[in-house]
Amino acid sequence: MKMSRLLAPTLREDPKEAEVVSHRLMLRAGMIRKLAAGIYTFLPLGLRVLSKVSAIIREEMDQAGAQEVFMPALLPAELWQETGRWGIYGKELFRIKDRHDREFCLGPTHEEIITDLVRNQVRSYRQLPLTLYQIQTKFRDEVRPRFGLMRGREFMMKDAYSFHANDASLEEEYRNMFKTYCRIFDRMGLNYKVVEADSGAIGGGFSQEFMVLADNGEEEIFYCEKCGYAASRESAGIGKYKGTATSVAGSVVKEIHTPGQKTIEEVSAFLKVKPEQMIKTLIYETEKGAVAALVRGDHEINEAKLKKMLGVEDLKLADEKVIEKITKAPVGFAGPVNLKGVRILADQAVTLIEDGVTGANKKDHHLMHVAYGRDYKAEVVGDLRFALHRDTCPKCEQGHMAVTRGIEVGHIFKLGTKYSEKMKATYLDEGNQEKTLIMGCYGIGVGRTAAAAIEQSNDKDGIIWPMAIAPYLVDIVPANTEEPEQMRVAQDIYKALGREAVLDDRPERIGVKLKDADLIGFPVKVIIGKALKEGKVEIKLRKTGEVKLVEVGKAAEEVAKLVG
Ligand SMILES: [Zn+2]
Repeated sequence: MKMSRLLAPTLREDPKEAEVVSHRLMLRAGMIRKLAAGIYTFLPLGLRVLSKVSAIIREEMDQAGAQEVFMPALLPAELWQETGRWGIYGKELFRIKDRHDREFCLGPTHEEIITDLVRNQVRSYRQLPLTLYQIQTKFRDEVRPRFGLMRGREFMMKDAYSFHANDASLEEEYRNMFKTYCRIFDRMGLNYKVVEADSGAIGGGFSQEFMVLADNGEEEIFYCEKCGYAASRESAGIGKYKGTATSVAGSVVKEIHTPGQKTIEEVSAFLKVKPEQMIKTLIYETEKGAVAALVRGDHEINEAKLKKMLGVEDLKLADEKVIEKITKAPVGFAGPVNLKGVRILADQAVTLIEDGVTGANKKDHHLMHVAYGRDYKAEVVGDLRFALHRDTCPKCEQGHMAVTRGIEVGHIFKLGTKYSEKMKATYLDEGNQEKTLIMGCYGIGVGRTAAAAIEQSNDKDGIIWPMAIAPYLVDIVPANTEEPEQMRVAQDIYKALGREAVLDDRPERIGVKLKDADLIGFPVKVIIGKALKEGKVEIKLRKTGEVKLVEVGKAAEEVAKLVG
């Protein structure tokens, strides 16, 4: 490609709307342009990156035995109503009506559609297992689309779904996909971690996320420095605490007047006690009744863990009326001592507080010198809070956890029968019995992966692409296009290198051309300038800045070796 012909409108200034590096650099490098909030056009360089990412995914998925299909983006409401997600999905679902007033949505994910396809086309265990995938545009009506390709309203995804006769077969395919994903991200040259994750809205059983590590990544990753355990903040476990409180509070429980002091901060300042001495008591309502959850004042409760401990689906903080009914006091004075009529669950750290402070279940009063076991008990003691830096690893129970940041680019799930049961997707087993299909699902954000690669690797001058997904591998830059000899050599090298090369034939100053080259992030530059007098050209690597002088005749061969 000749640079003079390439539609790559680079920008010198940082665009105001861009909050993250990848967004800023993709705009500046002329790879994307915004059409509307969260909706982008891919220019030639941006599309080449997407195509390379897609090609690697396609090759590896095919290699793994998955078959590519292409489902519509416009989806009838009826299928979504079968699983109940038409109601659950809320405002993020783009809903539309056709001229006959029939309801549709623009697909954010395709579990319902693929399950419908398979229940109609697969009858027998002989057709299983089956893994289908597609690379397609998805839609999500984000409240606040931002971060460019990171959180758009229209985005490209690879989504795959597998169907099985039994759990062992699902397990096998899940592992197959795990390995396939590792190969995909390895080939792309990305530094990533696989973390245990909360399944969120898609639901089902076990899931893992593939996170590209980046300093400004949107999510925290907790990992064990000893055994390699890694998990998202949402699902990071904490090792069991050893031992119990070494001594209980010396004096008996004392009631203290704390007028108007409700929050942990207010009470700890008022009573001059540390937040870690306080027992935070949170009242929740669930479909199985109200519960009180206890965490240390300086800890944050993890509602996902509480839900799991209780085995409930619905969990929300109780409103004032319920709290008053249960604690006989206004909000802000709840405590576990003499709390009746609710189940009490405690985070393990709470039971180790030696000289606790908590609400007295009485307006404007707190209790001091409270001790677990003596003054109150919990029905269940376990892990109920968000993990913190240096917490003990839940897996090896020896290492400590460190925190890093990352961007989710892939997610693999064992769905089980969550969708197939509701949609009556069945098959006939060897005994001609009708059985429910067991499912897995596996996603990769295609545009997100490209953006994550930039977040992971860039400098003040621009993007540093991994070789495998760079828009072009080589930029050939003659210092002065007026010099016929420079242009002749440039043309020769350009011809020899073929489709992965760009020839910067613009009548611009060399400085301008090199700035653009660094911004776009071509992994290799061939600079044809002063050294040509000695019959040499400069080969410069974007990643390391390393420069090599090579003979003109060997330049193409040398570059081919570098980009191999
Ligand atoms: Zn560990």
